[in-house]
Amino acid sequence: MSVKVRFAPSPTGFLHIGSARTALFNWLFARHEGGQFFLRIEDTDKERSKQEFLEEILDSLKWLGFDWDGELVFQSKRTERYRAIANELIAKGLAYNEGEAVRFRVPKQGKVGFEDLLHGRIEFDLDQHGSLAEDLVIFKSDGSPTYNFAVVCDDAEMGITHVIRGDDHIMNTPKQVPLYDALGYKKPVFCHIPLILGEDRSRMSKRHGATSIREYRQAGFLPDAVVNYLSLLGWSPGNNQEIIGREELIKKFDLKRVLKTGAVFNKEKLEWLNAQYVRQLTPQALADLLLPYVQAAGYSIEGPGKGRAWYERLVALFQERVFTLTQFTDLAGFFFDDKISIPETAVQEVFKDARLAETFAKYADALQGLADFGAPAVEERSRALMKELGMSGKEFIHPCRVAVTGKTVSPGFFETVSLIGKERAVERLRAASALLKTRTPA
Ligand code: GLU
Repeated sequence: MSVKVRFAPSPTGFLHIGSARTALFNWLFARHEGGQFFLRIEDTDKERSKQEFLEEILDSLKWLGFDWDGELVFQSKRTERYRAIANELIAKGLAYNEGEAVRFRVPKQGKVGFEDLLHGRIEFDLDQHGSLAEDLVIFKSDGSPTYNFAVVCDDAEMGITHVIRGDDHIMNTPKQVPLYDALGYKKPVFCHIPLILGEDRSRMSKRHGATSIREYRQAGFLPDAVVNYLSLLGWSPGNNQEIIGREELIKKFDLKRVLKTGAVFNKEKLEWLNAQYVRQLTPQALADLLLPYVQAAGYSIEGPGKGRAWYERLVALFQERVFTLTQFTDLAGFFFDDKISIPETAVQEVFKDARLAETFAKYADALQGLADFGAPAVEERSRALMKELGMSGKEFIHPCRVAVTGKTVSPGFFETVSLIGKERAVERLRAASALLKTRTPA
């Protein structure tokens, strides 16, 4: 029997990180088994379902790389089919009309249970769970089918072999099981996977931070890193392996090894993983991925002393320094800016040495005279000047870094100066020199 699974989002919000993990486990299981992975859109709630959410969910699933098989199934297009099935139940005396609504007769005594792939046998005693002994509404008076009814009709008619969904549905399954029996459908294997929890071990929600895939995408996470991270929430390939690519995941994924307890979401770990994936990219590929962020920040890679080769060198310089794509423009903005401003605190703290106005001017002259502006040439000339001026590396480099970048920290100083380019480096040094001259009493 070939495996058929489905991911069944309701388009009532953006794709939640927990739903994405449910989709991932379904997708991995299907791909591992050589089975099929379907998408079903549970859009029976007309008030809350929105086209905008549907589009975003599909977009996020594609971004994550979860390709699905066959056509999308829309529950909103199957109302007639659900109605026909409800009528069959009514004809057999297994359901009845109650005004405009339809209720399904459920067992009133004993136990309802099912086998769960992870949890084993799960049973509910109807004496203790009174709500399960109430006849189940399968059609609401507004003419729409209920979730528990539509889901059973669909899972059965789509031939779903394994229902893999969040633990939050454990209380729905005992409502669905009697429907399978009444309709003569073969029951799928149920597998309820634990929810994703926040640091305080309560269900992950907005108050724990970003919850939608879209937010992580916008924040500059890479899809491979997100998939890798989600796979480790409640599952592991063993031997403490943390970095695991898509193909290996498919090969090693084992549904039975999913943990039964909730998995705590850890943003630092996701960021760390993302940094590992950022490092694996070629500078060219990373440069392409960063370009939209560069543009969004209002920067251009073209202009005097810039260009694609310059941009790739710059990206390579920051490749090991960024955790997420958005951090690049935060850290590297001064390479793009025409003018920088030096924060007053840095002026006060770093520009104390009375020699600096002169130093900056001389350094500007020295750089101006360089024909080759590569990092080694810049370094050589800079060190020669330090010697001439009798300044140590520390005395010289730190203030010059602030003068040229406006920052107290930067990547390697000489590479930084080289990438800022002769024209702008000289200009900034002269500006810093002029600034100090206006302040120092003659
Ligand atoms: N539409 C349901 C949800 O979003 C799907 C539940 C199921 O997989 O049966 O949670």
